[in-house]
Amino acid sequence: MTTFHYARLKLTAWYLLIIMVVSITFSITFYVVCSFGIDRIVGSRYLLSAGGNPDRFVLPLSIRTELEDFKTGLCFAFVIINGFIFVFAGGVGYFLAGRTLQPIRDMLDEQNRFITDASHELKTPLTALRSEFEVAMLDGKKISHTSILALISSGFDEIVKLQQLTEQLMKLTRQQKRKNNIPHGDVSLLEIIEVALKNVIPIAKQKHIVIQQEIDDYILNGESSSLSKLFTILLDNAIKYSPDKRQIKIISQKSGHTIAVMVSDQGIGINEKDVLHIFERFYRADTSRSKISGYGLGLAIAKEIVESHKGTISVKSTLAQGTTFTVQLPLKTV
Ligand code: ADP
Repeated sequence: MTTFHYARLKLTAWYLLIIMVVSITFSITFYVVCSFGIDRIVGSRYLLSAGGNPDRFVLPLSIRTELEDFKTGLCFAFVIINGFIFVFAGGVGYFLAGRTLQPIRDMLDEQNRFITDASHELKTPLTALRSEFEVAMLDGKKISHTSILALISSGFDEIVKLQQLTEQLMKLTRQQKRKNNIPHGDVSLLEIIEVALKNVIPIAKQKHIVIQQEIDDYILNGESSSLSKLFTILLDNAIKYSPDKRQIKIISQKSGHTIAVMVSDQGIGINEKDVLHIFERFYRADTSRSKISGYGLGLAIAKEIVESHKGTISVKSTLAQGTTFTVQLPLKTV
């Protein structure tokens, strides 16, 4: 039996116990009150007919039998009712226990999936490191100075990858943990975007990419470091998935109490089947998997940040033409 089923049965048993204690207590009390009341009413009638003298008062046998039958019937009815309540409450309790425990089950499944995905991703650079070292060890004393240097250099690359991956994993778990209690304050949209731009401009320059910015200043309610991280991820991806010398645009558009920020590039684009999954942890489109380095965690972090700010994120893309990510965030209400 799985832990979930065991917990469900245990919770059902508790529900049932509480309901049965209440129901049986109520039945016994009702039975005692009814029996006592009927005895008193019938008794006082016959006492009157006996001229009010308790010494001459004897309840006729037929009446006594009738009273006993009535009490047995009452008792039987309570047993039937309680039996029915037991079966009904058991079924409903089992159903409710399942519903109560479902979010916990989902959370546990999600955590297990996360651990499996993370271990799988960590395994790849570790396996590469191990096999390189194994080959070098087999060569033993024959290994040349140049090979040692090459080994150190590729080992270093794998370590850097591992470090980047663990950092991203930590960012994602931290973001998930803080999802509902991010300290919110007044944040300037322009300032957030400027911080994000400062982070990515050196990489854009390397690829001769120009970033055009048309952001109006609005005040949002949120956490500035998370929000600049969000736009850094989107701008970083726009650069990463664009060929050299292209243009990237980041613009804002207000509509009612919402501000939309669009990050558009003229890059490789994402095909329809991948668009549905790119916000999932560790998902990478086939177009980028082989050529461009990454772990498929950036957009999962971005989504967590947007959701913790009660916003939405969406994407529109055409293969080989470009991609636009749109983030919608509520404006601060006065
Ligand atoms: P990573 O970039 O590390 O792979 P992300 O979670 O940031 O991880 O992105 C997930 C996937 O979405 C990427 O692997 C890529 O296939 C696709 N993607 C994200 N942004 C873009 C973009 N601007 N242009 C094209 N593809 C993109």
